[in-house]
Amino acid sequence: MSTTAETELPDLDAIRARYAAERDKRLRADGPEQYIQVKDDHVHFQDDPWSDDANQREPLTDEVEVLVVGAGFGGLVAGARLRQQGVDSIRFVDPAADFGGTWYWNRYPGIACDVESYIYLPLLEEVGYVPKNKYAYGSEIREHCMAIAETFDLYRDTCFGTRATELRWDDEISRWRVRTDRGDDMRAKFICLALGQLSKPKLPGLEGIEEFAGHSFHTSRWDYDYTGGDADGGLTGLAGKRVGVIGTGASAVQVVPHVAESAEHLYVFQRTPSIIDVKDNPPTDPDWAASLQSGWHKHRRDNFNALVSGVPQEEDLVDDGWTDMIGNLMKRIQSGKAQDFSPEGIQEMLELADLQKMESIRGRVDEFVDDPETAEALKPYYRQFCKRPCIHEDYLPTFNRDNVTLVDTDGQGVDRVTSKGLVVDGEEYELDLIIYASGFEVGTPLERRSGFDMIGRTGKTLTQTWTDGLRSLHGMHMHGFPNTFLMSIGQAANVVNYTHLLDEQATHLSYIVARAREDGLETVEVTADAEASWVEQCIEKVRERGGAFFTDCTPGYYNNEGLPRSSGSGPYGVGPGVMEFLDLLEAWRESGDLEGLRTT
Ligand code: NDP
Repeated sequence: MSTTAETELPDLDAIRARYAAERDKRLRADGPEQYIQVKDDHVHFQDDPWSDDANQREPLTDEVEVLVVGAGFGGLVAGARLRQQGVDSIRFVDPAADFGGTWYWNRYPGIACDVESYIYLPLLEEVGYVPKNKYAYGSEIREHCMAIAETFDLYRDTCFGTRATELRWDDEISRWRVRTDRGDDMRAKFICLALGQLSKPKLPGLEGIEEFAGHSFHTSRWDYDYTGGDADGGLTGLAGKRVGVIGTGASAVQVVPHVAESAEHLYVFQRTPSIIDVKDNPPTDPDWAASLQSGWHKHRRDNFNALVSGVPQEEDLVDDGWTDMIGNLMKRIQSGKAQDFSPEGIQEMLELADLQKMESIRGRVDEFVDDPETAEALKPYYRQFCKRPCIHEDYLPTFNRDNVTLVDTDGQGVDRVTSKGLVVDGEEYELDLIIYASGFEVGTPLERRSGFDMIGRTGKTLTQTWTDGLRSLHGMHMHGFPNTFLMSIGQAANVVNYTHLLDEQATHLSYIVARAREDGLETVEVTADAEASWVEQCIEKVRERGGAFFTDCTPGYYNNEGLPRSSGSGPYGVGPGVMEFLDLLEAWRESGDLEGLRTT
């Protein structure tokens, strides 16, 4: 399924000027500081709606081999791969009451994943599961998280409803001491930090936010007691209610059609429109599922990864909006439209393929939205991967409903909150409910995002160590923090299919833990030199590849709200391309000499 029509393209210079003007309109001096932290007066925005915290227990003072902080997909794949290496003693610590991570917290109506289920859900062959549809809904994903935990016996030693408050290296015993908000003082030989990328909700720093007399919540903590219904919709509690949704990112796109169906009136407050591509979500063909041969999951995941990395393949197994781009590029080459294969020529080809895609996206808006002014406001003017592209069949047509108003703020955002509602451009919109679809903290200090810090071998905290940006080897090992593995994109690789990277990182760290067992090692720590050399390589790569692209992008969390980190070593700084990175990790393991790590 190709989603891009062959259209006559507008002039490249004109479109570049339009993109730049739209970006400039949105640039703000306060960049990421425009958002406020969910704490103090706002802390209720992150209360757990899914647990009554009944899981009381005595504080723990024992020792485990691996303590995993975070029970989402990162922690789950780490646990699974460690089990496969024969590691018995694994403990999970997570404030949630079950496995799932982002899929535990986010249960808003319509929640689904835009990356194909057959490649997004990890460990499908190991669990013996084939998803129900091409794109999975949130509840199915959460159930798969639990199935992984069951399959690999990961429930055995979990500390749920527990927030780590301090991780301190104790040099005398060569162990991490882990304190929590339940009074635990546990020891662990290895720590795996599987904290996710988008776990801490954030709020727009709007004046008057605490004055609102109606009800409000963040999408990641949906209040079904108020709205009624469930993740499939049926929000009967919204009957007669005036609802405002702030934000039009991937969460809002999924929420808006359901709210529109039940609210008396819905106002969607838009700063920047999202890309809305086709969502074709057929059920899984049982014959196809039965025909799958051993190794199919890896093969499909690798095929997708290669295509979205710009590496042509004989076939496009996933064939969706993500792989479409490379398809466009190949068509241009095959049709003879592209002939200049110099680095500049390739850049222009990519830009033209991008433009073709974006023209088709803008064309879809006219196709689905009746009112020309509303349609124009819903058209995104930026390059395809400046923001997370979305797929949805019902979002655009929702704006044809009489009870839905798009309040387009022309890039400026909501002005302020009052006791009655929201103000945009001097006009007050009276509301009963405000839904903050305002996203998550990215790149803020570890302590702020996770509620704990790590105090390493030298007494320095991780937050202090990262004052000038992330420092690591392979995005995973930090000098001064022995026996610690970080699972993250930063200084690793930026991927579309995040669980693929997590699984590769899990394979890598479980190999190192197994090696430590085999070789009788007490500690494994990256040397300062190896770390410095990797940081340099990452900075160089960002300069070569991503720098200019993200600087030219409209603001968002991908580019630190329009102020991209020039060093490339910030938490969203990336290492080599994902293909190169995965090959490099594999070669590192194959060489067998734990290069760059000091062991005792
Ligand atoms: P985002 O950070 O993507 O979106 C936040 C939204 O809030 C943006 O539209 C932003 O506008 C808007 N906003 C912020 N301040 C204001 C303001 N003052 N006035 C008006 N609007 C404002 O958060 P999401 O939760 O939507 O998505 C986060 C990520 O989670 C996604 O990028 C994706 O990676 C993942 N996700 C994936 C899903 C999927 O697979 N379908 C579903 C949901 C989430 P602006 O764009 O101008 O900054």
